Amino acid sequence: SAQIIDGKALAKQLRVGFRQRVEQLKARGVAPGLAVILVGDNPASRVYVGNKIKACEECGVRSLHLGLAADVSQAEVLRTIEQLNQDDSIHGILIQLPLPPHIELARVLQAISVHKDVDGFHLYNVGALVSGNSIFPPCTPYGVQLLLDTTGIDVAGKNAVVVGASNIVGKPMGLMLLQREATVTICHAKTRDLAQHTILADILIVAAGKPGLIVPQMVKEGAIVIDVGINRLPDGRIVGDVCFDEVREKASWITPVPGGVGPMTVTMLIENTLRSAERAFKAADEVAFQAWEAPTVQS
Ligand code: NAD
Repeated sequence: SAQIIDGKALAKQLRVGFRQRVEQLKARGVAPGLAVILVGDNPASRVYVGNKIKACEECGVRSLHLGLAADVSQAEVLRTIEQLNQDDSIHGILIQLPLPPHIELARVLQAISVHKDVDGFHLYNVGALVSGNSIFPPCTPYGVQLLLDTTGIDVAGKNAVVVGASNIVGKPMGLMLLQREATVTICHAKTRDLAQHTILADILIVAAGKPGLIVPQMVKEGAIVIDVGINRLPDGRIVGDVCFDEVREKASWITPVPGGVGPMTVTMLIENTLRSAERAFKAADEVAFQAWEAPTVQS
């Protein structure tokens, strides 16, 4: 049965290193700061924002939590972002999604300074990812990439199948795997005969938000299976998109839910914030458009 890829343990290990980087930054007079904007009071969003603030505290990163009313005007949101763009004590800005329908997501994402866009959703950063020079890789796929690294398996030449094609997870995940020279297939809700694709996957990454979607008959013997899904069942249990117990018998490596991708997502947000703060030492123009090098992780 498959070995478990322990996201919780890796996240913990990385955060130890982050605390050291924060100390080094502080010694040079820079206290890294992350601003988190939450519009309205969606309960799930509140939990996510709470986790991000908690991770900041754990790593010694200063966090600024800005709660805006659900009926705040778009102009006010843009003004808030502009103030944070100008604020030298803030190195990362993120706006918790989803936004209320009266606010244009694209306008808001494009208002965030490219240099502080730690979620990596600004069009510039999306384009940088496409061209292989990512500045701030989106946190969830970035975390998955580090989880894959812990297996010690080189993705180059492997069949990688991503189930889910969202802008936040599936698409950037596919691009990162392509950057590492995997042969990438991205499936989505309109894909005909999903199993026909997933059965070929040496690396199967599932981010559909559908509990029980991936059953063992859809998984190749010895595959690496990364489950990004987070679903709350009627009985309150949190599960992924993969039938864990059954698929574990076929896979070589598998991530649990919870304790797999989830803790890594928040961790990579801190990584991006620290990287932004570290950049403050260098001439902005010199490094802002430089190729991104992912940190290496011990397996
Ligand atoms: P989304 O709803 O924006 O996108 C879901 C994608 O899955 C879409 O492309 C859709 O076409 C596809 N899909 C849906 N049903 C499918 C099916 N039956 N077969 C094939 N494809 C199907 O969701 P998202 O924001 O990308 O998130 C996906 C899941 O990952 C959710 O469960 C979410 O909670 C979770 N998530 C987890 C983390 C984390 O840190 N672990 C971060 C972000 C999202």
